[in-house]
Amino acid sequence: MPKIVTLPGDGIGPEVTAAAVQVLREVAPDLSIEEHAIGGAAYEAHGDPFPQVTRDALGDADAVLLGTVGGPQNSPWNSLPRPLRPESGLLALRKALGCYANLRPVRVQPGLEHLSPLKPELARGVDILIVRELLGGVYFDGDRKIEGDTAYNTMRYTTAEVERVAKMAFWAAEQRKGRVTSVDKANVLEVSELWRRDVQALRDRSYRSIHLNHEYVDSVAMLIVSDPSRYDVIVTENLFGDILSDLAAVIPGSLGLMPSASLGDGAGLFEPIHGSAPDIAGQGVANPAAAIMSAAMLLRHGLGRSDAANQIERAVALALREHPTRDLGGKADTVTFTRAVLEAMGTPA
Ligand code: ATP
Ligand code: MG
Repeated sequence: MPKIVTLPGDGIGPEVTAAAVQVLREVAPDLSIEEHAIGGAAYEAHGDPFPQVTRDALGDADAVLLGTVGGPQNSPWNSLPRPLRPESGLLALRKALGCYANLRPVRVQPGLEHLSPLKPELARGVDILIVRELLGGVYFDGDRKIEGDTAYNTMRYTTAEVERVAKMAFWAAEQRKGRVTSVDKANVLEVSELWRRDVQALRDRSYRSIHLNHEYVDSVAMLIVSDPSRYDVIVTENLFGDILSDLAAVIPGSLGLMPSASLGDGAGLFEPIHGSAPDIAGQGVANPAAAIMSAAMLLRHGLGRSDAANQIERAVALALREHPTRDLGGKADTVTFTRAVLEAMGTPA
């Protein structure tokens, strides 16, 4: 029986996580689901934003469903010593799971093209998966220093690091349209030269059915908003992925629609990309779509249950059209929307 740990966290986290858990229980009644504390909620309960009981529970978990972490700007949590603040709990969680690939689908839901800042004809049908390397590159490894009027960081990758994230991208592409765009800056960076060489070699060795092309990051930054339908899966290193995934996140038009997965060798971490939304927390109006779609990613990428994931995603698409939440200009509250998803799952595809 697969074990799922849920970490509802703070703000709207508990509301949207409860909705996602309801949907999970419906499509996968065999899962063991165990709830634990993280962030500000964990500090209140245990005096620690990532308490030992939570840490222990992750030991034999197959996947982790996270809500949101953090308080309002004027929260007393912000005057705690840094290691006790909610965000430190989140960082410690990410570190404990050691996930090296971050997956962010960027999808414009049918019928919601009007929310996108792109023209409807450009927004229609956008369905991209961005796979970002998460543990290497200029943010982490290598020499770094600031001294007087000079400073430097080092962008560094090894073949092993490139291959493990590229594998993730190829594997995801096999379940999609089979196209991968690897993004680099190989015309000026040696580290990109290695990246490009290793991604191509892995494709030629083990993923011949995948159509792979290589593009420069500056060109992708332009094309992802001017011609987004050219992309299926995008794979890139940490810094480029950080920037491109936030750029692409504006395409669907609402934070409430964006799920994510972080994957490594152990349990994966699945969470909506939005924050704790203190302005609407506790009112029952949060849009749970991102959390519910994160649960779908958990089924697909964490447990290999693509059919159940597809079933959820179809139901969410339908519910979004018929019962849009307030952030989408509609009237549905969290409970109404979740009920619509559950009902839509009962209808045959
Ligand atoms: P954090 O610092 O916690 O990341 P943030 O400043 O990035 O927070 P969010 O918490 O993501 O911001 O919220 C930004 C705005 O979007 C807020 O007005 C919030 O109410 C709204 N919002 C975010 N998520 C949702 C959601 N799931 N449903 C409805 N509105 C949302
Ligand atoms: Mg934020």
